[in-house]
Amino acid sequence: MKNDCSETVHELHFFLDGEITPEKRARIQAHLDDCPPCMKAFDFESELRVVVADRLKTEVPTDLAARIRAAIADDCA
Ligand SMILES: [Zn+2]
Repeated sequence: MKNDCSETVHELHFFLDGEITPEKRARIQAHLDDCPPCMKAFDFESELRVVVADRLKTEVPTDLAARIRAAIADDCA
């Protein structure tokens, strides 16, 4: 099931934004329940959003966020 990890991490921001189909949401949720590294990535991603939104009150530094996501994806593969 590990080949789902990169896809799950890739979809996390859509998941958090709610810009995702119910089917995908259910699949990601199931994967998160079953995969501690991805759950950790999910926790990190949601926390990152709160911190970034709180500190900047403006726009998310997408470059930084993308680099962090890539690092997490590598870690999970
Ligand atoms: Zn995973």
